[in-house]
Amino acid sequence: RPNLAFTYQALPMRVLFGAGVLAQLPDEVARLGLGRVLVLCSPEQEATGHAVAAALGERAAGVLAEARMHVPVDVARRARERAGELGADGCVAVGGGSAIGLGKAIALEHGLPVVAVPTTYAGSEMTPVWGLTEGGAKRTGRDERVLPRSVLYDPQLTVSLPAGLSGTSGMNAIAHAVEGLYAPDATPIVSLMAEEGARALAAALPRVVDDGADLDARAEAQYGAWLCGAVLAATTMSLHHKLCHSLGGTLDLPHAQTHTVVLPHALAYNAPAAPQAVAALSRALGGAADPARELWELAGRLGAPRSLAELGMAEEDVPRIAGLAVANPYANPRPVTRDGVEALLRAAWAGEPPT
Ligand code: NAD
Repeated sequence: RPNLAFTYQALPMRVLFGAGVLAQLPDEVARLGLGRVLVLCSPEQEATGHAVAAALGERAAGVLAEARMHVPVDVARRARERAGELGADGCVAVGGGSAIGLGKAIALEHGLPVVAVPTTYAGSEMTPVWGLTEGGAKRTGRDERVLPRSVLYDPQLTVSLPAGLSGTSGMNAIAHAVEGLYAPDATPIVSLMAEEGARALAAALPRVVDDGADLDARAEAQYGAWLCGAVLAATTMSLHHKLCHSLGGTLDLPHAQTHTVVLPHALAYNAPAAPQAVAALSRALGGAADPARELWELAGRLGAPRSLAELGMAEEDVPRIAGLAVANPYANPRPVTRDGVEALLRAAWAGEPPT
């Protein structure tokens, strides 16, 4: 039974969903009263950025194709300057968490509204969480000014997402659902979103990886990613996200792949202390008796990495990351012990099934 004592605060989000919905972007920008928006994207998606600017016509002030993982402060500074020079009154961020993160960095300082057009499953577009990286350290915070005013989910834009990143980005989204289900601030409505989000992604991802142009599968995966992003925004993340944050920040391991490898092990660690989450995930994963093992099998079916070693981590780094995981206390269903986390990381490093 759900926990019937809770506080739930909805975020003011406007979401447009569906194949071809990108055509409504000019109307969305006009609806927000914006006349000169700066289009943000990663260098790899510059062509998409220009196509979006062309669709916006006179309402586009320019394209800045400089978004990078974890928003380096110098990239954020340049983007703010560029927005100022162009007299931009808002931003349209097209891409994954990196492009949307850059839009948030501008919003944080200049208050320019962000319209997000996500093309991965990372979920940043649904959250008021920003991040900035300087000298190898990432700072994050929550601020409602960075929450996108409008989000356009167009599955057609995800067709070009390569199979490898589709699988790992989808597992990254499932990780938000898993930790949302056992979060200290879980609420009944958010738990429904988490279960349905995990279900949709687990069902769709094998089809997406088989045939990246299957628009029905792409739409179902993106629908799951939307729900999981909303869960990330509404709940406090625990051990899994802390570990991935340390692995990414300290060792520079790739974001989505790291989430994919760690998730089954983090869930196996917490499962004994989170029976309701295990029951919800079991339903979401087609009645799986052991959801942690099922997620490990899913990663295998997706051809995704399953060991930290293959992501480039050295075994000697295990104690350092375990130390970071226990350095500061945070909410987690099962007590986080040094030995427990070290064993978890060793299994994830070696690519063993979760225990
Ligand atoms: P990303 O945005 O870095 O994208 C990875 C690569 O894929 C980039 O080269 C990008 O151009 C390319 N790409 C994206 N979509 C594509 C498409 N449809 N077709 C072809 N190429 C495409 O990766 P990500 O995993 O989406 O985001 C990771 C970053 O987002 C991390 O820095 C992470 O910390 C952050 N993040 C933040 C939040 C939050 O709430 N603030 C949530 C999730 C992730």
